[in-house]
Order: sequence, then C-alpha cells, then structure tokens
Amino acid sequence: MPQTKKIAEQLTSTCSYCGVGCGVLIQKEKNGNIFVEGDKNHPSSKGMLCSKGLNLHHTVNDKSDRLLYPQMRYNKSMPLQRVSWDDALERSAAVFKTFIEKYGPNSVAFYASGQCLTEEYYVINKLIKGFIGSNNIDTNSRLCMSSAVVGYKMSIGEDSVPICYDDIELADCFYVTGANPAWCHPIIWRRVEAHKAANPDVKIIIVDPRVTDTCAIADLHLQLNPGTDITLNHAIGRLLIEQGYIDINFIQQHAEGYEAYKAVVFEKSLEEAAHICGLNPNDIRLAAQYIGEAKGFISMWTMGLNQSAIGTNKNLSLINLNLITGQIGKPGAGPFSLTGQPNAMGGREVGGLSNLLPAHRNLNNPLHRQEVQAFWGGKEIQEKPGLTATEMFEALETGQLKAIWILCTNPLTSLPNTRQAEAALKKAKFVVVQEISNKPETLAYADVVLPAAAWAEKEGTMTNSERRITYLHKAVDAPGEALPDAEIICKFAQKMGYNSFSYNNVEEIFIEHTKLTKGTNIDIFGLNYTILKEHRSIQWPYKKHKQNGTKRLFEDKKFYTPSQKAILHAVPDTLTSEKPNPDFPFILTTGRIRDQWHTRSKTGKVNKLNQHIKQAYLEIHVQDAEQLELKEDDIAIITSARGEVRAKVKIGNTIKPGVVFLPMHWGKILGNDLNRANNITNDLLDPISKEPDFKYCAVKVAKYQKP
Ligand code: SF4
Repeated sequence: MPQTKKIAEQLTSTCSYCGVGCGVLIQKEKNGNIFVEGDKNHPSSKGMLCSKGLNLHHTVNDKSDRLLYPQMRYNKSMPLQRVSWDDALERSAAVFKTFIEKYGPNSVAFYASGQCLTEEYYVINKLIKGFIGSNNIDTNSRLCMSSAVVGYKMSIGEDSVPICYDDIELADCFYVTGANPAWCHPIIWRRVEAHKAANPDVKIIIVDPRVTDTCAIADLHLQLNPGTDITLNHAIGRLLIEQGYIDINFIQQHAEGYEAYKAVVFEKSLEEAAHICGLNPNDIRLAAQYIGEAKGFISMWTMGLNQSAIGTNKNLSLINLNLITGQIGKPGAGPFSLTGQPNAMGGREVGGLSNLLPAHRNLNNPLHRQEVQAFWGGKEIQEKPGLTATEMFEALETGQLKAIWILCTNPLTSLPNTRQAEAALKKAKFVVVQEISNKPETLAYADVVLPAAAWAEKEGTMTNSERRITYLHKAVDAPGEALPDAEIICKFAQKMGYNSFSYNNVEEIFIEHTKLTKGTNIDIFGLNYTILKEHRSIQWPYKKHKQNGTKRLFEDKKFYTPSQKAILHAVPDTLTSEKPNPDFPFILTTGRIRDQWHTRSKTGKVNKLNQHIKQAYLEIHVQDAEQLELKEDDIAIITSARGEVRAKVKIGNTIKPGVVFLPMHWGKILGNDLNRANNITNDLLDPISKEPDFKYCAVKVAKYQKP
C-alpha cells in the first residue's frame, strides 16, 4: 500500500475478471480515486491477486473512455445524440412493446454477460421469462462454460462444482486438461504451485497441444493432437480398469452405466489410442498410474474441453475418470471446472441462460415452471428454450429476431465467425447497448446506448468457481449519468408496465432470489447482505448451522440424479469439427493470454498490462514456419473458409506441427478487425450445450505481402 496516500475508506469486494473470484480490498483515497490490494481474509485467494486483479483500480480511475449519458438515434444513418434516461427507456419500451404485439414475445432478446452481478442477471431473467413471456435470454457464458454445465448435469445431476479450493492442498494428483491456469486462473495455480513445491511427490499431469507456462511444474505433459481428448480419457479409463485402480465399491453403490462405459473404453487398444492422440503409450500408462495411485485426485479443465463441437462428451469422458476411481465427494478429490468469468456461476444460479430457470430449475419441467411463475406472479413461462448466443445473431440475420438488448459484453469481438455476426447486427431492427465504455464495436449498430456503472461503482454479489458468494461494495459513484445495470433493467421493466420491478434497493433483489432457492440444492434462503458482509463470503448451499456454507458437495455420496447415483456416460470419441484439408491444412486453436481479459475493453487501457504482449500474434511450429518461409515478426495472413486475420509470427516448438494458435482478445477496440481471431473461427456448435467450436477449425497460413 502506498504510504503517502490518505485513505478515506477501505471496502471489501471481489475481482471482476476470472472465475477464481479473488478477494479484493478497495482503498478509497480522499480525492475519490481507488487502489486495490489482495484481501488476506478472503478464503479463495488469501491476499493474492494476479496482474489483472492488481490493476483493477486503473480501469475505474481512468474515466476517459466512459459512456456518460444515454444516447439515441431515430434511424441508423443518424449520429447518436444525447437524451434523457426517460426518453431512452420510453423509446426502448415502446419499440419492444410494438414488436412483441406484432411478432410475439420471441421477436425480442437479451444478450448479457458472465460479468453481470447476480442481482442484474436475476432481474433480466425475471423480465424476459416471467413478464415478456419469452426465454430469449442468453449470455456470453454460453461461449465458455455451457459444456461443463451440461457435463455436470448429465453425470452428477446438477450444475454443481463438487469441490472447494481448500481441496487443492489435500490432493496428490492433478490432471489439468484444456486449460492454462498459470495464465488464465493464476491464483488457483499459485496454490497448486505452492502445494507441489511443499510436496514434491504430488503429481501434475498437463494435457495440452501447446507447451504453456502451466507445464513448468508438470511431471508429465501429454501434448496431444487437438480434438483427441476423449480418446485419451478413454485410454486412461481402460488402463485404470485393467490395472485394478478403479473403486468398485463406489461404482456398484453410487454409480450407473459402468458396463456400457467399460465396453466403450475397450473399443480401442492403448496403441491405437496413443496413435490417434499423437502420444507415447508409455506416457498414457504413466498418467493412469499417477491417477490410480492418488489418494486425492482432482481433474481440472476449462475452455480446451468446453469450447468444442463435442464439448459435452469431452466433459463427460473426463468426469468419468473421477467416478470410476471414486474420487469425488471426499477431501482433495473431484472434477473441478475452472470458470472463465467472475459470475458465470451466479448467472446460472438465477437461471440466466435460455434453457434454465432460477435455482437450477429446468424449463422442461412443468412443476419448475409453475413454481417460478407462481412466485413471480407474471405470465405463463414458455417451455421451449430460447435462442442461445450464436442463435440470436442467426435469428437477427433471418429477421426472426427484431430487437436485441446487449449488456456488459462485446459480441463483435467474442462471437465465432464474427464478421457474420456483425452483418447480422447490421440487419437488426432495433439494438440497445448497455455498456460502460465508448469503445465496443456494438455501439456502431446501436439505436439506444445506455451508460452503465462499472465494478466498484455498484453493489451486489458474485459467485466464484468454488460456489462462494462474495458481496461487492460500492466504493465510488459512477461517472456522469451512468446507472447500475440492475437499476436500468428495473426502470425499463417499469416503463414496459410491469410492477414487480419496483425494488427499493439491490438487496431486495438478492433476498427475492434467495427465496426462490429455498429447498433446492443451492439453497441460500436466509442469506442477506449483512451476513455476507460479516462472513466476507459464503459457499452455497448455505445452512444456518454451518456459518460459512458448504465447502464440499456429495460427501454423503448422494448425487442430484433421480436415483441419487452418479452416471457414467459411454460417449463416442468421434470428432465432428471442421477437418484440415489441402486448401486449409492447419488446425487453428484460440485462447487467452496472461494480462488481457476478454475483448480488452478494460485491460486494454492499462499500460502495464499491455506491456506483456502488445499485439495479436500467431504461434507456429518452427518446421511449419520454415516450410512457409516465415520469419519471426513477419506478418502472417491466416485464412479460413470464413475470412482472414493478420498477426505477427511467433515461431517456436511450443506448439505441435500442423497446429497454430491465435489469442482471442483483439478486435476493433484500440485497433481494427484485421487481427480479430474470431473472423476465422467456426460457429459450429456442440449439439447439446450449444457451445461453439473455438478450439478447432481448418486454416491456411501465408506470409502477408504488402500490395
Ligand atoms: Fe482476478 Fe482471476 Fe487474477 Fe484472481 S486470478 S486476481 S480473480 S483475474
């Protein structure tokens, strides 16, 4: 803490970037500026913050890019003009009402974000599902976690991360797949690093087509061919069975589907599987041995598994490894999905996706629909799921969807096949953009722009990857006329004529949400801001007699399925992604870098964070670079069937030959769309989770020649 600063106030919060959800202390200076440090009393992070978290205050103190007042235009060729809140919301309500009357409630949609607070998610979901009468709400969480959600639901009955971070120090084997936590979930990874340093016998297995910083402490790096995760997981499953490492008592008493699972993993020999994965069979044997001999085994994964056309099956094949070894519901063990966004979990708790209802209820359950409808006192809730993230943009293109309200996300950098999404947004009849920054590309297509309060400018709650709910204090006022997102949505709902949105404060929204959880598996009934402030954070389900909630799920081995048994799924390992071919011979995979967050609207304005990696780059293997006559720092042009990207060449042997990598952060913000990776990614979806195939598509690479 700088000693010269005069601190007026110190407030607790949580970091608004990744799903680790580190505790933050906001120090407020007398001049109104803030700076941050790690909160030593927050159990998730124990005082640690990574580079992004440590620079959070810059994004609040620097108001140079902030939207300050509502703006509107009456036709797309006009410039946006400043208007009052009343005018902006009355026009938005009038247009929404007209479309709903003329074309039905499914002609409008809300596209939100895993960065919204739980209370914000709650009111948007309530508005569209309970009062407008459509299920057209989805969020950018669809792009990162939906395969994990479905994986959990199909295997353990509900979208519930079973473990807590304190399990890290109790485990002796980690299988980290499709993830680079050293860069993308750094504080979780620091805990793993410290645990390994103190206990060298702890085994770390990394599964990744690239050599990343996460590999620095690996005992074994399985550098598999992209897309072969299921084949590898099945091969390990087979070895665990053959070598007697499975927990037969657990399987017999607490799991279903073992015989079918056994049959599917025995379809391929170890040698066949190793050949498909591009691995040495002995390395797969060693991985199975490490897992089999572990007293506490944690599987850890994120986008490499989720962002795939077979993402659900990849998740299931991994969770199977925990189930056959009985490594779940006990200290130091369990499947642990690393959440990408700070409140993707909270959003799902309130049902903030097109196929969910509050408190993990399901749209396809008539009793669940009735319960929620009766509680809200609104319209009949529709059974049919609404449009998902990419489907919304397709529906704009076809004209089925007339109006879209986009808040707290920048789809024109983050959606796959972005140029098509941009063309779709251009065709939309009415676009509302609710934003903090004047940079996102969506603003060019907005009919109404609503300025929102940022992190530290509003209060509410978020839930991190270990089901931990943390209260975020408001530390400073939002600039200009910007308002908290929940307040904007409630004002709009009232303009639409719905009376159930006249809350006196945000806590009333939170309390309403807790009432809907009563009696469910995520029960937080009885929780309020006073308790959260007192305890700093609580893990759901919250029970009054357990003051800090529930650390670990399923210690009684009763899963949330109808039979209370976990389900082993015998999933096929057929890859459905776009295959490389003579025209597009390389496999493209995309991902995050250490110091940037999503589309850089916040991290991109922090000089320190831009120093790490200054611009988009193409990672390519030295053999491929030689063949293409590419040199370090050349500009490459990378082309797929959907478009092209330009990026500086970074040559090395950290990636497999035949595979190239682009970071996903760059778009038009502070640049142009030429290095926007999603110009070329594929919008093919997993048929169950509807998550796009960001990690695998066919491209060609050439040296860019100046015309
Ligand atoms: Fe924020 Fe994630 Fe870094 Fe923690 S690890 S400080 S939550 S970005």
